Amino acid sequence: MMLTTMRPPRVDLAEIAAFVAARYGVSGEWVALEGERDQNLRVTGAAGAFVVKVCHPAEGVAVLEAQVGVLEHIARVDPGLAVPRVRRALDGAALTELAGCPVLVLSWLVGDVIGGRGLTPAQHRAVGVAIARLGRAMRGFVHGAPAMRPLVWDTRLAGGLAGHVGELPEGDRGSAGEVLARHVGRTVPALEGMRSQIIHGDVHPFNSLMDGGEVSGIIDFGDLVQGSLVQDLANAAADFLTPGGDHGAVLFQMVKGYASVTPLEEAEADLVLDMVEMRLVMTPLIEAAKRAQGIVSEGSLTHFNDRSMPLLRELRAVEGMRNLIRRAANFAPPAPAVTMEEAWARRRRVMGAKPYVFYDPPIHMVQGEGVWLTDSAGRRYLDCYNNVPHVGHCHPYVVEAIARQARRLNTNTRYVTDQSVDYAERLGALAGDGLSAVVFVNSGSEANDLAWRMAKAWTGHSGGMAMEFAYHGVTEAIDAFSPSNAPGAWAAPHIRLLPPPDDYRGPWRRGEAGLAENYAALAGPLIADLGPLGLAAFMVDSAFMTNGILDVAPGYLQAVAAAVRGAGGLFIADEVQSGFGRMGQFWGHRHHGVVPDIITIGKPAGNGHPVGAVITRPEILEHFLTLGPFFSTFGGNNVACAAGLAVLDVIADEGLCERARVTGEHLRAGLRGLMARHGLIGDVRGVGLAVGVELVQDRETREPAGAGRLVGLLRDEGVLLGSEGVHGNVLKIRPPLAFGPDHADLLVQALDRALGRL
Ligand code: PMP
Repeated sequence: MMLTTMRPPRVDLAEIAAFVAARYGVSGEWVALEGERDQNLRVTGAAGAFVVKVCHPAEGVAVLEAQVGVLEHIARVDPGLAVPRVRRALDGAALTELAGCPVLVLSWLVGDVIGGRGLTPAQHRAVGVAIARLGRAMRGFVHGAPAMRPLVWDTRLAGGLAGHVGELPEGDRGSAGEVLARHVGRTVPALEGMRSQIIHGDVHPFNSLMDGGEVSGIIDFGDLVQGSLVQDLANAAADFLTPGGDHGAVLFQMVKGYASVTPLEEAEADLVLDMVEMRLVMTPLIEAAKRAQGIVSEGSLTHFNDRSMPLLRELRAVEGMRNLIRRAANFAPPAPAVTMEEAWARRRRVMGAKPYVFYDPPIHMVQGEGVWLTDSAGRRYLDCYNNVPHVGHCHPYVVEAIARQARRLNTNTRYVTDQSVDYAERLGALAGDGLSAVVFVNSGSEANDLAWRMAKAWTGHSGGMAMEFAYHGVTEAIDAFSPSNAPGAWAAPHIRLLPPPDDYRGPWRRGEAGLAENYAALAGPLIADLGPLGLAAFMVDSAFMTNGILDVAPGYLQAVAAAVRGAGGLFIADEVQSGFGRMGQFWGHRHHGVVPDIITIGKPAGNGHPVGAVITRPEILEHFLTLGPFFSTFGGNNVACAAGLAVLDVIADEGLCERARVTGEHLRAGLRGLMARHGLIGDVRGVGLAVGVELVQDRETREPAGAGRLVGLLRDEGVLLGSEGVHGNVLKIRPPLAFGPDHADLLVQALDRALGRL
């Protein structure tokens, strides 16, 4: 490593003045300036003010060429960024030579060196902004010389100073050694994997200018080096600290300003404090190294030397500094590692002592990816039943779409917003059949509630029909359509419940003739029974999920729809479960060959972000709006629509409808394969990735067998699924559509083992 053993050249001023007048056409009043390696002067005359740098010959022309190159690069890329401009000689040369020394002439920037004066929080933030802008302006600049340069001030090389720790005052040696060891052992190896480019290398208050309270420029590109991007920020952050100051506030503001232009990567943010400490320790170590070579520091360096170790002590006394820097870089503090037991006890204290959770003991989930969930003990589970993370837990395309939109704009549909219009158009195009009018809400329940209001308005009727043991949501109006909410206590005089077309357990069974007609014929008398209320709407889930995921005879829903329409009612397809490719094509109702009047969506639409919508014919919506305006604050907000659009993209890009169809077939074949060995399985059925496995005590009597123990054993196998049906004896397999045949095989094997352990 090259230590700073050079002293600046000492060329005679008259000689310099004559040279600069002849070669550059610049003359005027001369003043000598400070310089660690170069002889620097200022000349002020008719042509303006310039800095003349008579550089140390040992510096090498290549490094100076890089300096010229970077300044001209910055002038092109970010002309508003105040850095010196290169003044070329009259013959166009950027570098000239005097007395064996390269000469570089730069424009003089307005403003005063910040130096040791205290800054306001806004000014600290502005320094952070300026450093980030500088890094951006330099990031496309390529030159070999700065990469080949072992500079003593390059923090990454600080390990080379270890031999001088013993020369520090005794009280400082321990902490300096510790900082250095951590730097060499952890920081430098980590930096090797981080963003690297040519950086300024030495932004500090004596290289930063201020004019009228504003940061007005950054000067001195003499330490240009190929380094880690975050180095410039960390070095400056250390150098802008002042003894006795509010160090947390300085670091927070500088990092905040920096991140407002160039977001830090999380790993970079987590290194800033270590690098600040290293920079502080480096100063006295370099001083010691210089002393060993008989060099005495002058000027601004003495400022840094005296303050470094006291500052390090003060900095270390501030609590929570790491998290403060993380917050400034927009990263929440890392969640403390909590065990399931702790989290569970805390939850019961604040969220009700009788919680409704899956499993006993419950699972403390901390992470999701694709079809996998991970708990706080690090155990991975194959997710076979969550339909909300529809295209896969934390799908990166959806996550990015949400984050990008959240950064840009998130407001409501009382403004005209592009995302809501795009999403409405896409949904309308997918719905087809003239269903091109879309209203956004936030959940399946709200969508069904609104659909019900629209149906009553359109038909003038006030009666409804749903399936027995249906579930459509939580609002008061929709609770009436959801007898499964409280099976024994359901009472809704305006609703009739249609017995499900259950071809395994119902009165007409698989293989018998007239199945569809027989079950559909049950609708007519129920509708008639509504009497003067009249039928406003029939609401149905095409996957018949709560009914135990039924295989429904072809023609059944068409016949029910005909009866509904014959009574002047509307057909509401609740696609919260069955839509978005779940049943192997985009909409579940298409499987049944029906055309609904209204489609409602929820759960899967936003992949976990709350998104709900009603899709209907324009005349139904227009009529509804004649009664009064409809507005849902969060419904159709930009971020929700960005999530919704991203989900539609992923379904198309990854061919998820087809994947659900193929994987579903493969899975059912595997499950049926288990029937030979496990008498408990009475039936395997479903469409696409809506799959039901009905458990029976006896295949002849079909007496239901509870699924609870098996679901628990599967959890032990690392497989998550649920149970459904009025008897709770149907295994519900309804995974994210990222689920593939290999996952299906894992599930079948786990089920085989779990059944064996029953
Ligand atoms: N309809 C169906 C078919 C559902 O399965 C659900 C939720 N399980 C809903 C509506 C209600 O949706 P949300 O919970 O978003 O209100």
